[in-house]
Amino acid sequence: MPAAQTVSVLLPVAVAGTYSYGVPAELTVAPGDIVAVPLGTRDVIGVVWDDPPDAEIGHNRLRPIVEKLDAPPLLKDLRAFVDWIADYTLTTRGMVLRMVLRARGGLEPEPPIVGVRLAGPPPERMTAARQRVLSVLEDGGAWSKSGLAAAASVSTGVVAGLVEAGTLAAVAMPARPVAQPPDTHHAVPVLNTEQQAAADALRKAVADGGFSVTLLDGITGSGKTEVYFEAVAAALDAGRQVLILIPEIALTGAFLERFAARFGTAPAEWHSEVAPRLRDRVWRGVATGAIRAVIGARSALFLPFRELGLIVVDEEHDLAYKQEDRVFYNARDMAVVRGKLAGFPLVLSSATPSIESRVNADSGRYRRIVLSDRYAEAKLPEIASIDMRANPPERGRFLSPPLVAAVAETLEQKQQALLFLNRRGYAPLTLCRTCGHRFQCPNCSTWLVEHRFRGALLCHHCGHSEPRPDHCPNCGDTESLVAVGPGVERLAEEVAARFPEARTIVMSSDMAGGIQRLRLDLQAIAKGEVDIVIGTQLVAKGHNFPLLTLVGVVDGDLGLAFGDMRAAERTFQLLSQVTGRAGRAGGASRALLQTYAPEHPVIRAIVSGDREAFYTSEIAARRAAGLPPFGRLVGIVISGIDRGETQAYAGAFRRAEPRAESIQVLGPAEAPLAVIRGRHRFRLLVQAPRNTDIQTFLRDWLAAAPRPRGNLRVQIDIDPQSF
Ligand code: ADP
Ligand code: ZN
Repeated sequence: MPAAQTVSVLLPVAVAGTYSYGVPAELTVAPGDIVAVPLGTRDVIGVVWDDPPDAEIGHNRLRPIVEKLDAPPLLKDLRAFVDWIADYTLTTRGMVLRMVLRARGGLEPEPPIVGVRLAGPPPERMTAARQRVLSVLEDGGAWSKSGLAAAASVSTGVVAGLVEAGTLAAVAMPARPVAQPPDTHHAVPVLNTEQQAAADALRKAVADGGFSVTLLDGITGSGKTEVYFEAVAAALDAGRQVLILIPEIALTGAFLERFAARFGTAPAEWHSEVAPRLRDRVWRGVATGAIRAVIGARSALFLPFRELGLIVVDEEHDLAYKQEDRVFYNARDMAVVRGKLAGFPLVLSSATPSIESRVNADSGRYRRIVLSDRYAEAKLPEIASIDMRANPPERGRFLSPPLVAAVAETLEQKQQALLFLNRRGYAPLTLCRTCGHRFQCPNCSTWLVEHRFRGALLCHHCGHSEPRPDHCPNCGDTESLVAVGPGVERLAEEVAARFPEARTIVMSSDMAGGIQRLRLDLQAIAKGEVDIVIGTQLVAKGHNFPLLTLVGVVDGDLGLAFGDMRAAERTFQLLSQVTGRAGRAGGASRALLQTYAPEHPVIRAIVSGDREAFYTSEIAARRAAGLPPFGRLVGIVISGIDRGETQAYAGAFRRAEPRAESIQVLGPAEAPLAVIRGRHRFRLLVQAPRNTDIQTFLRDWLAAAPRPRGNLRVQIDIDPQSF
């Protein structure tokens, strides 16, 4: 039977184009509908797309859609978003669609829970247990079998027996909703003057409707969250859904509580640690509109919201928003795109805005709202640097005498200290003193990091792990291996030796116990059950540690050592964030920065608290060099198993470059990390003026270049994080 209608369907496979299918007469489908279609020998799920179907395929060759799923359709703005991202990042639309369809189970309506209720006469044989069940059911309600058994303190077998006897009958009960609707009047905060003005401006942006971006630029502790919650309330009151993006899922626990304190109920969560079944329910709830507010990691941007009216990007400067896997994108930038396509406002919040956002604010493309004071009695910490040349630590130690004294003082006053070192593990390098052998990753061009708690040497790039050696594999010496440099575990050892009485805790993303452990640790810190926190960047971000009065930065120069253009910005942000953890509950507090370069502009900006000086000089330097956001930059990484073959291909790729005035290509050169996971990497950098249509240039280039064969790969990274 010939199909009456032909439609194009986008499939979540690595293909840019759509496929054409026939629509069986008994079906009606429209763009956005989710359908099952045959592909080769199997059926796959895809989405009816807006492209005109292929007119060339004869109706007799056209395969029909198998079925239309009972799922909410993907709305036009989300389809346009998929197209836009694929086009911008030069990935296939199918791969982007795959991120949208991640929660497969969400595509089918949830089966109702089977419960029981009273339906017939009492059983002939009555027992005490049965009596208890019947009395629970007296009010006529329906119960789940296990819930009923628990309420009556009987086994589920007793309930089953009553069903068999005809006393109880099975009924379908709706599942409990994933999240309750937030109550915008639950606990309206009393804002100070500065906060109130900011909240009014945000509420107005929401009321005006339409696309706009507001940069909420407020120092740590100024109440940015309280303020943007007012925008959230306004959007919810207007009947719109809200998405709040956060960079670090370790922050979700505390965030859910804060949201619940303001709105009476927690929002739905979306990130990699949410259990699959729950993810399915969130996906569907977002699509049906049952869920009104979501807090999530970057992938939440691809949820099928029915009536999204606001996105807040918290800690908008954070590099964790950049995904560098399959589809390379920055969730902050893509959130702005989604708002533009669908026509709703965004709030980007940060104490240390990215240079990009700051420049957009200065040029008037974004609105900027500044919160310049900490809320209430809280004051920013006094910040000083410790010149390590004048105050060297003892041999094999990493804390200088002034920092040790400051920690001792803090402990005496029964206050809390945080020692920050952005290095996981025990030591970044293991060396043989006899022969000079160093332990390198077999798959990557990096040294293995000793993790003493786990008794292993680990590669932080590919995850390679080997047992901690007891002798040198090169010369056989059993006494000669030494750890070089500090990691948080080694710092913890020094702290334990110096302050044996203190209760300490190490916070690092690789510690056992995962996110649950992390949440408990964060609570323990907030409650004052910990005296000294030793942590990596995990503790720098957004946490509220009310009792903390001393922050010691063990290696203030660490981030500056990397030779890339963003090092200064990144280090400035990290140091501002971590020092900003101190003194959030009032009273005096301080931060001490150990450094060998106290005169470095970043260290000086942190110590003097002069953020404007930093932004002014950094923006001027970027402008002068034509670097982002004043110019466009693209990284092209060419990788392969064999070094010679990869290099030769990179050279051939380069020679296919189309001529284009004003576009400059550098390389191929060995990538900063020359080998990862056994793959050799060469990098090309494309630099162009801001208004260049770089995608067209790249597409032409890819079309002209020889196709990568075998295991060779070409990866395009638009707006790379490091350059
Ligand atoms: P930021 O996100 O700017 O670092 P927060 O929103 O976390 O700041 O606020 C810092 C602290 O001050 C939090 O404990 C918050 O609850 C409190 N706070 C800020 N503003 C108010 C307010 N208007 N009323 C009550 N508490 C507030
Ligand atoms: Zn490795």
